[in-house]
Amino acid sequence: MKTLRQHVAKPIAAAIAGTACGAVLGCLLGRTVIFHQTSTRLDNTAQKLAVQGDSSTAESRGVLSQMNASTDGVCSPQQIAAFRKLVFSSHYLKAAGRMSGDSIACSTTFGVAHGDPVHARPSYVQHDGTSIYENLPLFLVPGKTVIAVRKGDSFVIYNPFNLHVDSPFWMHFTVTDRDHVRRHSENTKAMQPNSPGIELMHEGKSRLDGNLYATHCSRDGNVCLSAYTSVAEALGANRFEFAGFMLLGALAGCVFGLVCTLLYRRNRGIEKQLIRAIRKDALGVVYQPIVDLHSGRIIGAEALVRWNDDGNMAVPPDVFVRIAEERGFVGEITRLVLRRILRDFGPTLRERPDFHVNINIAAADLADPEFVPLVEKALKQARVPAYSLGFEITEGFTARHDVARKTILQLREMGHAVHIDDFGTGFSSLSYLYELSISGIKIDRAFVRAIGTEAVTVAILPQILNMARQLNLQVTVEGIETPEQAEYFTHRATESIHAQGWLYGRPVPASDLLNMLGRVSEEQDHEKAPGLEVAVTV
Ligand code: C2E
Ligand code: MG
Ligand code: MG
Repeated sequence: MKTLRQHVAKPIAAAIAGTACGAVLGCLLGRTVIFHQTSTRLDNTAQKLAVQGDSSTAESRGVLSQMNASTDGVCSPQQIAAFRKLVFSSHYLKAAGRMSGDSIACSTTFGVAHGDPVHARPSYVQHDGTSIYENLPLFLVPGKTVIAVRKGDSFVIYNPFNLHVDSPFWMHFTVTDRDHVRRHSENTKAMQPNSPGIELMHEGKSRLDGNLYATHCSRDGNVCLSAYTSVAEALGANRFEFAGFMLLGALAGCVFGLVCTLLYRRNRGIEKQLIRAIRKDALGVVYQPIVDLHSGRIIGAEALVRWNDDGNMAVPPDVFVRIAEERGFVGEITRLVLRRILRDFGPTLRERPDFHVNINIAAADLADPEFVPLVEKALKQARVPAYSLGFEITEGFTARHDVARKTILQLREMGHAVHIDDFGTGFSSLSYLYELSISGIKIDRAFVRAIGTEAVTVAILPQILNMARQLNLQVTVEGIETPEQAEYFTHRATESIHAQGWLYGRPVPASDLLNMLGRVSEEQDHEKAPGLEVAVTV
């Protein structure tokens, strides 16, 4: 019961944590998207209104100058009739008229004013003397006000219904006039220079005091129109979209949390399976031939470890070797491979000094103080000479650790060859590697793959070969798959050069390689011969 709880507790916790994080991220993303969409909508609407504003201003200016140029008697029936004609043929205007001082003298709607005069003070006056009345009272319709513009003694009244765009309920508008703003900021403390009034004289999208604004200005830049909405209104109007983002985020977070736990479990599962397989000696070892490039003769082989997990799926060696390295038990793989090499090829190595087997070792092996004595003991038990077993280490480890340098030196002094594997993928120079008393390099197959292309890697290959020759390093080229790739090196290498790759042979079980070496029958003889079989106990 407890195990079941343990089994589900972690995934559930991960799913809950993932859901919470995902929901928060979803909210943030949703907010960003909604703000972006809303700002774009505000911007489009403000732009349309600004265009209408420009047209209506141009129209009102034209009408006002015609009215001011009228030579008819002020408020005479002829003048009122002429004004009516102008209003009738306009698009944005509802009425026009004359003022005398601050009261309306006549208008196209009600003719000449009688009775109590309607007084009106402009909301503000623009720099060219145009007065703007934001709330001009209509005395025939009590309680209603209109927007009027006055130039000289003539005025026009805008038709509010003609200045119109389709806008949703949450969208509001504000008009900012440069002169109005200037007047406010100069004369009162209410409008500071950094107040929205000033900000809204710049075209573009902005976010001020919890509101989203989109502003477009008139052609002369004196009047700017902003469409705006509050953040709360924007989110409220798009609440379903917002909830969708939050839900999707929560769902993605939940799945992410679950996948992470399952992957972690699987890795832990793989690790446990691998340890079990190593303990049961259930890993396989295959051998890939290494040939002399010029003669094509097999002069050695590289031992490569293989493993099928409990589901009988092959796990790539770079994957499970890395897991073993990270978990600190790669040394057990090295021992298994060493045992297997000596078991499979012991007799051959004893008898054929012209054939060797290379083993891949890890950084941890080089740092393990028991490693060198262990190799020495195993070779002694198998009566295999040191020169028959070569080591392959990747470039990365050599540069950093002093211990690694010491171990390499010890191995070299014992008579082993030590090769730098995947040469060219690290950053160390050849001369540095030479100082480490390395015996050879294995040129990474990335270089070979690049042959026939324009890649820079190809351009430096001749230099690598030259340097290696000067430093007396054995060169092995990895990953040769085609005769053209082989030819490239045959032409450039004068000294002995080794090659490995599918062109010469894929990694195969020991028996196949022994077959290729023409040794199978002799091996069998050896195995039957009493006293020749050697137990290796590393
Ligand atoms: P590596 O030591 O560089 O081994 C050479 C890899 O190249 C092998 O892959 C081999 O199968 C592959 N190869 C050889 N010729 C060709 C070719 O012509 N074309 C292509 N495409 N590939 C070719 P593998 O066996 O998958 O091993 C991968 C890596 O895993 C090895 O690279 C080595 O770093 C590591 N590894 C394998 N066995 C061991 C081991 O026993 N111990 C340790 N520590 N690492 C090992
Ligand atoms: Mg190797
Ligand atoms: Mg390699």
